[in-house]
Amino acid sequence: QANPAWSEVDHYITELLAPADEALTGALAASTAAGLPEIAVAPNQGKLLHLLAAAQGARNILEIGTLGGYSTIWLARALPADGRLITLEYDPAHADVARANIARAGLDKLVEVRTGAALDSLPRLEEEGAGPFDLVFVDADKVNNPRYVEWALKLSRPGTLIIVDNVVRGGKVATAHPDDPAITGTREMFELVAREPRLDATAFQTVGTKGHDGLLLARVVG
Ligand code: SAM
Repeated sequence: QANPAWSEVDHYITELLAPADEALTGALAASTAAGLPEIAVAPNQGKLLHLLAAAQGARNILEIGTLGGYSTIWLARALPADGRLITLEYDPAHADVARANIARAGLDKLVEVRTGAALDSLPRLEEEGAGPFDLVFVDADKVNNPRYVEWALKLSRPGTLIIVDNVVRGGKVATAHPDDPAITGTREMFELVAREPRLDATAFQTVGTKGHDGLLLARVVG
């Protein structure tokens, strides 16, 4: 039910406000060539992540779900020269493509791609004292969204911004779908955020080249 106008408008906005450069185009091309699924954020969404990281003055960013490192590049470009981004990726093939893309973007000094299930990597980050992170972007297996938000909260400070992608899924999120673990996980995550007094949040729907979806933004307030 995608409307062709959504893509036209995305292209219009992207050309003016989030134009591609060699590193970004190259990251997408290398990801496609390596057979990765084409599920990176859209360019104007990447630019939104970049602006939010910059507005946040982020120096320490955590990303859960790297794929080919496309969103990683947008986020890492908002970091200062001594900043740091850790991105967690389950699939070693995705992580390899991402490392090459990140190096080609000249960001390998700032970015570390960690391979493994995020739920294994996150406790290690806590042991290492890697937090608090200024911004956490959650974009991995949606069934674990509640766990990822709990971990993001654990690794945060008051003022941390937590962003969760794909929270609308063509509108399915509004009703229970017991047979769809991604929806069940996302709805549990919404309920957790709603009852968590340390989080102040909203979510909004988006349409565009990626269809009808949405983002959740939560600020740690205590
Ligand atoms: N953030 C990326 C971007 O916009 O360029 C897209 C990430 S893609 C939607 C989701 C990624 O999460 C995939 O590369 C997938 O392999 C990874 N993933 C899935 N399950 C995971 C897990 N348990 N731990 C870490 N990463 C996982």
